Amino acid sequence: VLTHAPWTRIPGFHHGFLDAADSDGGDWAAIAAKLAAPYPVAVPRQVHGTRVVAGSAGGTRPEADGLTVSGSGLFVGVVTADCVPVLVVDQQGRVAAALHAGWRGAAAGVLEAGVAHLAAGGSDPRQLEAVIGPAIGGCCYEVGPEVRAAFSARTGEVTATAWNGRYLDLRTAVRSLLDAAGVGRIATYGPCTACGAGYHSYRRDGARAGRQLSFAGWA
Ligand SMILES: [Zn+2]
Repeated sequence: VLTHAPWTRIPGFHHGFLDAADSDGGDWAAIAAKLAAPYPVAVPRQVHGTRVVAGSAGGTRPEADGLTVSGSGLFVGVVTADCVPVLVVDQQGRVAAALHAGWRGAAAGVLEAGVAHLAAGGSDPRQLEAVIGPAIGGCCYEVGPEVRAAFSARTGEVTATAWNGRYLDLRTAVRSLLDAAGVGRIATYGPCTACGAGYHSYRRDGARAGRQLSFAGWA
């Protein structure tokens, strides 16, 4: 499990970016209970869109690519295999979010939607801290021209530094979009999921690829 050291010192807050071995079995509540606390883990039905909603403990899985949580007793998470997991915290507001950003969602605005959802709940974007977890790197992610066209069409040159010809460093694009959305602090952790060891990768393994969980929440 990867963790962001400053976040491990926030009273009552738990988070983690799991690898393939940590995610084995896919019983997220049982895994979270072992790693953090015995709470439900809400994971949306991810569709590479931009919808961000409040997570709930009831076991329903809304169609969304981001969940937020305020208050204690629930973790929110996303599952990925090359796409970018992003965890966001407002320490003062005791609010957290988990966002799933593949190229489609990132280009369409899921990161800005996550920031907007938290801002609507009272968080100043400058107080938000985001951590970007393991995802496919610019070393391995060759994409077609439609991908860059999708980013440029909506965000102009914001993600320009993420590109090396046809290779996209998706996490650099995500970082640039979060920065442009006003997020105060942004950190990036972990290797490339495709060529690094220990992570599920859709690009490498295709349809048989598993998924790894990233989660956050308050005790
Ligand atoms: Zn790589």
